[in-house]
Amino acid sequence: MVAHADRPARPLAAATRLVGGGRPARAPGASVSPELALTSTYVAGADLNYARVGNPTWSAFETTLASLEGDASTTALAFASGMGAISAALSLLPHGGRVIAPRHFYNGTSAVLDTWHEAGRAHLTRVDLADDGALDAALAAGCDLVWVESPSNPMLETCDVAAVTRRAHAAGALVVEDNTFNTPLGRRPLDDGVDVVVHSVTKYLAGHSDVLLGAAVTNDADLAARLLTARTLGGAIPGPQETWLALRGMRTLHLRWERACANAATLAARLREHDDVARVRHPGTGAMIALELRGDADAARAVEQLVEVWLPATSLGGVESMLERRRRHALEPASVPENLLRLSVGVEDVEDLWADLDDALRRAHAAPAD
Ligand SMILES: *Cc1c(COP(=O)(O)O)cnc(C)c1O
Repeated sequence: MVAHADRPARPLAAATRLVGGGRPARAPGASVSPELALTSTYVAGADLNYARVGNPTWSAFETTLASLEGDASTTALAFASGMGAISAALSLLPHGGRVIAPRHFYNGTSAVLDTWHEAGRAHLTRVDLADDGALDAALAAGCDLVWVESPSNPMLETCDVAAVTRRAHAAGALVVEDNTFNTPLGRRPLDDGVDVVVHSVTKYLAGHSDVLLGAAVTNDADLAARLLTARTLGGAIPGPQETWLALRGMRTLHLRWERACANAATLAARLREHDDVARVRHPGTGAMIALELRGDADAARAVEQLVEVWLPATSLGGVESMLERRRRHALEPASVPENLLRLSVGVEDVEDLWADLDDALRRAHAAPAD
């Protein structure tokens, strides 16, 4: 657990913190790059005495992420994966606790809560978080935790997180937001009063589709201590090498995010005019787009096979553009259309992305797969 270090009087911009965060103290001959600390234990006599509790490479990553999501009172904790961080956040629930979640959200989190609901370990209510009346009715039945994704995966539905958080807090519930799709450059949920932010660092933060990592971030010292206990005793700790790679990838987050968002805005506008596309979901920010095709599931499968620049693959947030028919996953609910393609727009040349996608959509429409 590492609180963000002291700031200079004039706070540095996010880009500067991304580039400069977590580096060793300046001294003649010191390394400019953080240490990759491969050790399972430490010589006795200091606070940190075993590597399941802490690691200098984690600290370098954590201080950098904490400074992006919050301020000097913010704590970030690295986990072995996004699901590791999500599991720690869900461990804040009392046994039999009541959870309100959006209609659609990441299918891994959703599957955990469904399983707990069926087992009587938690009670899950799904509501449209943009519908104040529905949210208030669900809160009135009692609630311990509201889970937020805005935009949601994969339907890209949004809600007013500050308003949801005010209502949830008034009802005595904690609020956790999965901020993976926004990154701290797109949104800073702690500023809206959200209690805990979780990330699949695997996606935009690490950014190169070569590492799995997660993080949980909070301004509340008590919640930070509980999340640290969940990590230390749960044992789902990140590897130092993965953490080092994630921080290395994060150095360019601002550049990648700016380009990916610009590419996505261009593509979303063109796709809205495309004859073979029935509906474009793009919340106006970010680099994720969901398309409903004019064709059926087979047309979506054909697009996956016809693209040559886009990678047909799950996951998102890497430099490389990816797309997939989301319903190919058994966990994805039936309310996600069969012909929905989720696009993660990367940082390639936008005209190459457009030409490849346009060609695949036309060919899929002309000759759908059998
Ligand atoms: C991928 C993803 C996760 C899970 O993260 P892992 O790093 O794969 O464990 C959680 N939430 C969202 C929104 C994701 O896209």
